[in-house]
Amino acid sequence: MGSPQPLCVDFDPRWARGQIPGSLGEHLYREHVLDQALDQQGAGDGMKGVILVRFGCAEYQHDPVTHILVHHALVDFAGMTSLLNESISKQIDRLAETKKPSEVLAAATSILAETREFVTSTRQLEADFTTSAEEMNKLKKELSNAKREAAIDSLTGLFNRRAFDRRLDELLEAADGLEGNFCLLLLDIDLFKEYNDTYGHLAGDEVLSRLASVFKKSVRSCDYVARYGGEEFILVLPEIGPHDGVKAAERIRKKVVKEKFAGDGEPIKVTVSVGIASYPKDGDDPQAIIRHADTALYKAKETGRNRVVLAGETPKKKRKKSKSKGKAATRGGSK
Ligand code: GH3
Ligand code: MG
Ligand code: MG
Repeated sequence: MGSPQPLCVDFDPRWARGQIPGSLGEHLYREHVLDQALDQQGAGDGMKGVILVRFGCAEYQHDPVTHILVHHALVDFAGMTSLLNESISKQIDRLAETKKPSEVLAAATSILAETREFVTSTRQLEADFTTSAEEMNKLKKELSNAKREAAIDSLTGLFNRRAFDRRLDELLEAADGLEGNFCLLLLDIDLFKEYNDTYGHLAGDEVLSRLASVFKKSVRSCDYVARYGGEEFILVLPEIGPHDGVKAAERIRKKVVKEKFAGDGEPIKVTVSVGIASYPKDGDDPQAIIRHADTALYKAKETGRNRVVLAGETPKKKRKKSKSKGKAATRGGSK
């Protein structure tokens, strides 16, 4: 006999009886064995003691139990199907050589018992496996939610600083050796402490959240917007040189000026200052690029706020308006 074939078992005695002549061929004793097995197990109680062994059983899939076995034969569940098939194959080889009905019956009974045990244990394994797969899917979902939460700032819904740092590393890694470029914009709300002190912290939160959506709406889908901390935001604009970076920053700055926030009575305006650095001009490591953007931002604050400064530029100081709050550009706190 060749390599072990998938085993099929059918528990429907009438069906099995119909198949006996065709499937068991000329062996003298097999019909007798099946009859005996039928008589022994009792033909009316659910699981009938009929075992039918065939070699190549594609057409033999109408029964759920058979189906399970064929299924397991195909996936070879934990190597068990191969073991069972090998064991049964050996017993069938022995069966073919014996002429004694009692030995044939004993072998058939043993095959039946072995098969039943196999069905039970594979069903159990399958149930355990399904449970584990469900638990694994649940854990996967929880993990992906936790990862998402760990990367998102809860007030603004933007990426947080940790996520941004990772993104910048990835971007620099990807750009390494390529001709890619990008701009990094560091934005800081002007005189925000005063805003909080005047209108309250909750009103300040509203500003942070509204400006976050202004930034999101002002950039392309490939751009990356994050809350860098406190009232500072950071934007990465891939494939953009310094000149276009300044244009984008100016567009955003003007949009912020147009936003109106509710104060006590008249609407309040908020402004932002922006420092811009670019890759590869301002270095090829994250610290160097951020440092250049931070220095440019400092200059924007120092020279009058509500302005955009490109790294390396030294802008002229704005003339002080008489109504200006005139606060010195201090870059402390969250910066
Ligand atoms: P500058 O123009 O120099 O940036 O002045 P500034 O007042 O904005 O800067 P400063 O660093 O003095 O103050 C930053 C303020 O931002 C102080 C802090 O209370 C406020 N802030 C930081 N995080 C939050 C926040 O989550 N919610 C609110 N409402 N305020 C925040
Ligand atoms: Mg500020
Ligand atoms: Mg700040």
